[in-house]
Amino acid sequence: MAHFVVVGAGAAGLMAGHELARAGRRVTLLEARERCGGRIDPLPAAEFGYPAEGGAEFVHGAAPLTRALMRDAGLPLAPRGGRRWSARTGTLLPDTSAVPGELRFYDALLRLKHDLPIAEFLETHFGGPADAELRRSITRTVEGYDAADPRRASTFAIRDEWLARDDGEHGRVAGGYGALIAHLAAEIGRHGATLHLGAAVAAIEEAGSGITARCRDGSAVVADAAILAVPLPILSDIALPVAARERALAAVADIGFGNVVKFLLRFRTRWWAEHGGRNLSDLAFLLSDAPVPTWWTQHPADHPVLTGWLAGPRADRVVPLDEAGLIELGLTSLAEIFALPPERLRHDLVAARAINWGRDPWARGAYSYATPATRAAQALLRRPDGGHIFVCGEALYAGPDMGTVEAALASGRDTARDILAGR
Ligand SMILES: Cc1cc2nc3c(=O)[nH]c(=O)nc-3n(C[C@H](O)[C@H](O)[C@H](O)COP(=O)(O)OP(=O)(O)OC[C@H]3O[C@@H](n4cnc5c(N)ncnc54)[C@H](O)[C@@H]3O)c2cc1C
Repeated sequence: MAHFVVVGAGAAGLMAGHELARAGRRVTLLEARERCGGRIDPLPAAEFGYPAEGGAEFVHGAAPLTRALMRDAGLPLAPRGGRRWSARTGTLLPDTSAVPGELRFYDALLRLKHDLPIAEFLETHFGGPADAELRRSITRTVEGYDAADPRRASTFAIRDEWLARDDGEHGRVAGGYGALIAHLAAEIGRHGATLHLGAAVAAIEEAGSGITARCRDGSAVVADAAILAVPLPILSDIALPVAARERALAAVADIGFGNVVKFLLRFRTRWWAEHGGRNLSDLAFLLSDAPVPTWWTQHPADHPVLTGWLAGPRADRVVPLDEAGLIELGLTSLAEIFALPPERLRHDLVAARAINWGRDPWARGAYSYATPATRAAQALLRRPDGGHIFVCGEALYAGPDMGTVEAALASGRDTARDILAGR
């Protein structure tokens, strides 16, 4: 029976392993962390009062595979509710979300024939002083939502993503993404796959007609083929046979990978619900120009937790700060937005985390984004070249939602199906 080693037990690796094990293949999963899930990172419910998410949190767009898996696991979607507020004008007001010149922007996007970085697109089509606010608004979204550098991010990919964005109800997995991963891990075990935690793979070597996966602790697994399901920056850390390594390095350089710092601050009360004479009890998202610019609540659930988000090139600039320094940055940002003394917020704080994904040794960033060269790079990486080393993961997904759980699941499933079909 053919034996596959899957390196990395995140959404992509688990899904690839599940497909192969279900089809009767022997599967061994090697995972560097002491848990499955990778960038799905549930935090202890005791810390925040619910299974808060240190990594992926929302189900975006249509996400057909994610939703099918949720149905299998009996996990409903907890729909998002509430209102977006903005502090960008200096006063807290309901956000209108209107991009100035939005119609002209989409019109120019739809007429674009050749891909180019979004910053260049904006300069070419909206370079004048009258469009300064349009440029700022688009740039902020590309940096904040896609965690992307606008000087590299593909305009075509942004167009595809933004035009597809309204498909499907947005929300969270009731019980958290961790419950979905637990379901997938249980299923894969039921189909006979073996999972080794704390097994960091250092090298994949060719061995006869198969491969040997060598772990940092000196252990090794011999198999017919390896599927690398690790985050993009980690691909270049694993020693590979020369041809596979050259292919990986060339492709990795053409796929963008951005950083995110995610803040979770639990307070004694939802102090923001009544603020400065305003009723903010329906606050869902809060946009601002503070150093940590974006915040959200768990509305309609009433946990007294605010989640902060700092992404893209701005997240790279806070790398020298340790977790305590980042938490302080989060608190001072909230103090600035709500015009409150920081001591007042510090006094109310019950639990706090600031997770800088750029410092995570097994991710080294948050998620990928497309550059104009990415589709070709993905095709190159997906090509099996001799059939012993395959690559999957969210960064390999060519659909409109790169950088999501859905992308990871789809890439894992498609890689396994290609292998089973002998493609
Ligand atoms: C802060 C943050 C917020 C996000 N928010 C959302 C969201 O709201 N919605 C959404 O859909 N997506 C979101 N994402 C993206 C989503 O989490 C990822 O796209 C997805 O989880 C990636 O899955 P993956 O299997 O490709 O990679 P990973 O989850 O990173 O899995 C790779 C696995 O490989 C392991 N590994 C690494 N190196 C080695 C090695 N040498 N040997 C063995 N194992 C190794 C890692 O430990 C990891 O478990 C978010 C990500 C972050 C960081």
